[in-house]
Amino acid sequence: MSERFPPPQTGQRIGYEAGRIIVPDDPIIPFIEGDGSGPDIWRATRHVLDSAVKKVYRGKKSFAWYELFAGEKAQAKFSEFLPQQTIDQLAYYRVSIKGPLATPVGGGMRSLNVTLRQVLDLFACVRPVRYFNGVPSPVREPEKVDMVIFRENTEDVYTGIEWPAGSEAARNVIRFLNAMEQRRTKIREDAAIGIKPVSEFGSKRLVRKAILYALAAKRDSVTLVHKGNIMKYTEGAFKDWGYQVARDEFGNVTIPESDVDPKTPATKLVIKDRIADSMFQQVLLRPAEYSVIATTNLNGDYLSDAVAAQVGGLGMAPGSNESDEVAIFEATHGTAPKYANQDRVNPGSLILSGVMMLRHLGWFEAADAIERAISRTLDQKRVTYDLERQMQGATLLKTSEFGRAIVENL
Ligand code: NAP
Repeated sequence: MSERFPPPQTGQRIGYEAGRIIVPDDPIIPFIEGDGSGPDIWRATRHVLDSAVKKVYRGKKSFAWYELFAGEKAQAKFSEFLPQQTIDQLAYYRVSIKGPLATPVGGGMRSLNVTLRQVLDLFACVRPVRYFNGVPSPVREPEKVDMVIFRENTEDVYTGIEWPAGSEAARNVIRFLNAMEQRRTKIREDAAIGIKPVSEFGSKRLVRKAILYALAAKRDSVTLVHKGNIMKYTEGAFKDWGYQVARDEFGNVTIPESDVDPKTPATKLVIKDRIADSMFQQVLLRPAEYSVIATTNLNGDYLSDAVAAQVGGLGMAPGSNESDEVAIFEATHGTAPKYANQDRVNPGSLILSGVMMLRHLGWFEAADAIERAISRTLDQKRVTYDLERQMQGATLLKTSEFGRAIVENL
């Protein structure tokens, strides 16, 4: 491997055995600071993560940070937006964190984020959504929201298999489908065509990951969200395969909702399913009944932003993209380019992604300490502009000051 940006001299690589990562006390963690406001939020995030780890583990654990390049910084340094070395090192070191990357405009370039997910086969997009006291929210009881959404990342209409109306490919597909005997409805000649693949393999590995998480985090339910009443062989099959994984691989520790006795609380992890449209009502009306959610790609896209809005929006929503072996933790918002280098935007999303990363590493004490410090900082109403403009009597802080306030509250 050519090393244009060599790894640090200190620290060790995270290992992987029997389906689990093995974390040394000084893991090498690659980071990509990101474009636009990325460097601002990354600086604050790094300060918070390093300070929490130092304070909690008193020097016994520490990060060996390793900068990788992608996006505009990579283009400026190496004349390419996504160097192969970055992809290779993200896979090799297994756990990393990144700021948002701008999608280059024009030239038909694909989003770097989507490219990373595809080439590294990061099949699960994980989004924990919980409320922090004091954050302005559009609902009455935002504190009842505490969900972790597992969205399938590689299939469904996101595979990008589609043809414009009138193209030769679309016409060929239409001719082929219209010629099939059992089709009741003919497709119009001038239709555009998109394909929605949903596989047993893809569905099962996503639901398996959600169940494993729910068991480890001692959550009480996993809800399979689907639109199987309409799309029986894709969305409906996702649900069926989900129940199958639960029964075949976790039969002794899970129970389908239909088998739960309403008079006695379930002692096992309850597997439920909800049709997607009804789920959008449920998360608003009965949020406390939902904990871990596993769903297909498009449903998950809509649902994760909708639930994030209930607790005050994307500014504070963390996320990760994961395979079984590799995980990248990242802010869920974009580069907010108009605020680039102004030390102004809210670093909460990336800091909380760092908190997710700490839990992924098994460094729970440091993760809990940061969450408590964020809660305290919000209680003190010391916030960045996006929250300050919605809160009465709040103190406006810069990105770096918000980071320092969290560290003071550790
Ligand atoms: P955006 O960067 O998320 O910004 C849209 C607006 O959201 C901002 O103007 C700001 O609103 C608010 N916002 C975003 N992040 C914030 C933060 N940390 N603190 C406070 N407010 C924040 O969305 P965009 O303008 O559509 O996208 C810009 C670029 O980011 C594009 O190139 C896009 O492709 C890329 N993108 C990357 C990712 C990723 O890397 N995962 C995700 C999404 C988009 P106000 O102006 O109202 O304050």
